This record gives sequence, structure tokens and C-alpha cells, in this order.
Amino acid sequence: MSNIEERLEARYFDKFLPLIYSKSFGQRLIDSSPHQLRTWESRTGKVAIFHRPPPTIKEDAFAKPERLGRVIKQLAVCYRKDLRGKVALAREVLRTLFEATDNVAVAFSGGRDSLVALDIARKIRPDIPVMIVNTGIEFPESIKYVRQLAQDWNLNFYEVKPKVDFWKLTGEQGIPVAGRGNTTFMRDLSNKADVKLSNSCCRRMKETPARQFYREHKIEGVITGLRVSESLMRKLNFADYGALRYSKTYNTLIAWCLYAWKDQDIADYIQKYKLPLNPLYNMGYQRVGCWSCLQDMLYKDSRLFTLQKQHPKLYDVLIKNLGDEMMRLYSVWADIEDFELDTKELEGLYRPCDFVMLEQYRKENKKDSRTDLLDLEIENPS
Ligand code: SF4
Repeated sequence: MSNIEERLEARYFDKFLPLIYSKSFGQRLIDSSPHQLRTWESRTGKVAIFHRPPPTIKEDAFAKPERLGRVIKQLAVCYRKDLRGKVALAREVLRTLFEATDNVAVAFSGGRDSLVALDIARKIRPDIPVMIVNTGIEFPESIKYVRQLAQDWNLNFYEVKPKVDFWKLTGEQGIPVAGRGNTTFMRDLSNKADVKLSNSCCRRMKETPARQFYREHKIEGVITGLRVSESLMRKLNFADYGALRYSKTYNTLIAWCLYAWKDQDIADYIQKYKLPLNPLYNMGYQRVGCWSCLQDMLYKDSRLFTLQKQHPKLYDVLIKNLGDEMMRLYSVWADIEDFELDTKELEGLYRPCDFVMLEQYRKENKKDSRTDLLDLEIENPS
């Protein structure tokens, strides 16, 4: 292994970060390696050199699990740190990003994780651009909250919007249910219910306007509140790419500065620094994104229950627009008899349907009315 590769490996498994050098020095190191190294160049003459992701399972069955094992071991060390230690880890990721480029923005969602990331970032760079995508289907409370925060914290704040309309998009491309719509189960559900499902909603409504913003503002690095502990998919992705990686989608570096933070760390930080929280959390919402999103409509703890209770008017708009499709999906879902699905197997992919509701439905002697079924699901959340 060449010297540079040893350095990359040490940096990766210690801090999950790339090495940043001036372009000329970096180039000499790159040339010295017998392997093709993954690199990224800033406009300001810096180069980031990344530790290579492991080969695919097909190429080498053991490389990925081995890498994951090493990453999880080091993550366990990070998880054990106290709040001060977690803030230090976050600041180290941000320092590395600022070393690579000055053109950095915070991607703010209005949620608690990105609030913490924003607070840490603004304490380093008070004038850092803060961008939020207003999809047009944000909760009114969220929009009011972020605008107030922008004013109170004197943020260098940008609100960007997609050119597409959610209702038009879902009418043309399908509705975003269970996040993907591309597993065998979801395809089966979609076909049987004759409801088009789509996985392009986030891409069109959020990614495209964000990418445009970064391009227009020459942003080269983006700070997010993404955390590893949120899902298995995140862990797998993190093991391959670490806390600061290049995103082809946005053509920027992306920083996961809160990678080692747990729910309790987020809560402790918010309490310690008395950060103002999005009021939706006090209304019982766990997620504060688009109110008409149906990604979790088949989950036992679907946000639809809270929407119906806290925002009945918005809920009615949703049912008026997509109620037919929802009922068809619920009905077919409950009627599917012949699929064998190991929920644990899919858990890491998108936290799939909880089958409690299906079992409940079966116990109720298979009521045949679609309206009854919808009522049952909505009114009796477990
Ligand atoms: S969160 Fe849901 S509704 Fe919002 S853009 Fe993504 S898929 Fe669409």
C-alpha cells in the first residue's frame, strides 16, 4: 500500500474524513499512488482525496462486511462521547469542509437535526448561507417558524421553490408511497390497486431546486443534519463514504456533521442552548416535512393520524385529491393473501408496512367496504 493510501485509511477509520491538500501537493500524492484515487477539486485550488469505497459484494464478498465492521467499531467509540465530544466531532467535520472550500451552505429542513447542524455551523460562520426548499406543501407552521428563525438569528437565508406542483406531479407520475415503489411488494401493490406509485417526487420537488440553488450560488459544500443512527441504510452508506463525501446529485461535497449523534444528544443540545423548536413537534409530529406526503401511509405510526387530528382541513384536502388512490391501496394491501414477506429483511430499506393493521383487518372478518377500511385505519391507530 502506498504512503498516501495508508494516510487515507488512517484518516478514514479514525475520523471518517478525506484528506485535504493544496492542489499542487495533492497532485504529487495522487501521482505517487499506483491506484486511481477518488478526488474532488475546489475552485479555490484545494483537493480532497477520499479513501476508496469497498468493492461490491459481487467483486469481493468480504470487503463490505469487513469495512462495515471496522466502521461500526469506531462509531461505537464516537457514540460513547458526551455532548461536548459530539460537538467536537461535528466541528471537526465542518473544519475539514471549510478547509476544502469557502463556498458552503446549510441545507435546513426546519427539523430538529438540521437545526442543531445549523446552530453549530453559524457559530463558526455567522454569515453562512442557509437554504430551505419550500415545496409548497410545507406545513404553514413550519414556514412561519423558519422565517421567524431567519429573522431572529439574522440568517443569510434563502427559500427556494420547485417549479412543479405536487398535485400535478402526482397526477402525472404517481404518488410517493413507502418511499420507493420499486420493490416487488410495492410493484405488486401498485398493479393490483391500479395506482401509479412514483419515486421521483423528492427528486423533482426538493433535489432539483436545491441543485439549482447550489449551482447559482457556486456552493461547493453542503452541511446537513443527517445522522447514522437513523436507519440501517444510513449505516451502510456511511460505511462506504464517511462523514464528508462528494454528491453527484448536487455536484457538491456533503457533510454529515452529526453522524455520531443520537436522539438524546439532539434533545440535550437543544435544551442546553435553548434552541427554538418547530412547533409541529409539540403537536405530536415526529417528522415536519411535506404535510401531503404519503410515504408512510402504510405504516402503523403513519403521520396521517396526526394530520387528521391536528390539521383536519389539510387532511380533507389530501383525501379530496388522493383519497380514491389511498383507499384502493389500503384495500388491496389488506386483500393480498399470497405474498410472503419477511418484514425484517426489508426493514433497513424503507421501514416497510407494519402488518398490524392488516392483521386487525383480517380479524374483523374482512369487511368489504373500502370506506370502512379507511375509517378503521385512520380512527384506530394503535
Ligand atoms: S417528502 Fe414526500 S411529498 Fe415531499 S418531496 Fe419528498 S416524496 Fe414528495
